[in-house]
Amino acid sequence: MVIRELIKKTAQTLTNSGKENALFDAQQIIRHVFSFTAIQLVQNYETDASEHEKEVTKLALRRASGEPLQYILGTQEFMSLEFFTDKNVLIPRQDTETLVECVLENTKDCTTFLDIGTGTGCIPLSIAFYNKNAKVTGLDISDDAINLSKKNAEKLSLSDRAVFKKLDILSQIPDGKFDVVTSNPPYIKTSIIPSLQEEVRDFEPHLALDGGKDGLLFYKRICSIAPQFLNPEGMLFFEIGYDQAEAVAQLMEDNFEEIKVVRDLAGCNRVVTGRLKM
Ligand code: GLN
Repeated sequence: MVIRELIKKTAQTLTNSGKENALFDAQQIIRHVFSFTAIQLVQNYETDASEHEKEVTKLALRRASGEPLQYILGTQEFMSLEFFTDKNVLIPRQDTETLVECVLENTKDCTTFLDIGTGTGCIPLSIAFYNKNAKVTGLDISDDAINLSKKNAEKLSLSDRAVFKKLDILSQIPDGKFDVVTSNPPYIKTSIIPSLQEEVRDFEPHLALDGGKDGLLFYKRICSIAPQFLNPEGMLFFEIGYDQAEAVAQLMEDNFEEIKVVRDLAGCNRVVTGRLKM
C-alpha cells in the first residue's frame, strides 16, 4: 500500500465511525507517524507506506473511538505557538486566546504574572513569549500538568522566565506577590458534566472541568484570597463560561474595582477583569 491509499483507507475508517473531518484527521495522523510536513505528504503519495501502516491504523482506531486528535498527535497550537498536550490536561482552546490577548494589551508595564490551574501552561507561557519582560509562575494541583508545562517551557525556550509548581488553590495560598493573576479555572457545573460533548466528557480530565455545584467554586476562592498575593493595584483576569459574567463580576466586587467583561470572537462573554481595590 502506498501513502495515497493509506490516506484513503484511514479516512474511510474515520468516516465509518461518524467523524466529520475524516480526511483532515487522516492526513494529520499520517503526517505525524511519518514525520511529514504538509508538502512532504503530497510529494510522497506514491511512497510505500507498509513500514508504518500498523501504527497509523492503531492511531486511527483511537480517533475513531472519539479520542481528540490533539491527544493522539500530542500537540495543539495556541497563540501561534505549539504546546505539548496529553490526557492529563485540558486541550488549549481558541477561546482562551481572548484572555491572553486581553492580558497582553492591558499589562504592558507589568513583570510578574501568576496563572492558577495552568494545565499545559499555555496561558503564562504565551504571556512570557509575547512580553519579554514577563516572569511567569504557573500553579496546578496535578503533578502531570506541572511536568507537562515544564516541558512546554523548555520547548519554547522560556524556562529562565517560567516557573511551575504544584499547589492546591482550594486549600493553599500561593507564595510571593504578583502584578497580574490569570486563571481559566474549571467552571462547568458538576451536574452538566454528563451531558457534555462526548470527546470532552470521555477524554478530557474532569479535574480541569468541574467547577463544583454552581460552577463558581474556583472564582469564589480566588476572588477572596487574591489580595494576599496581588501587588497594590494588581490585576485579575478570569476566563469564564458564556453565562457566568454577571455572577463572576459580582464575586469580584468586594476586593476589585474597574471590573470589565470582554467578549470573544464569537461575541460571547469570555473574560472578566478587575483591579485590586486600594
Ligand atoms: N489554563 C489551561 C488552559 O486554559 C487549563 C485550564 C483548566 O484546566 N481549566 O487551557
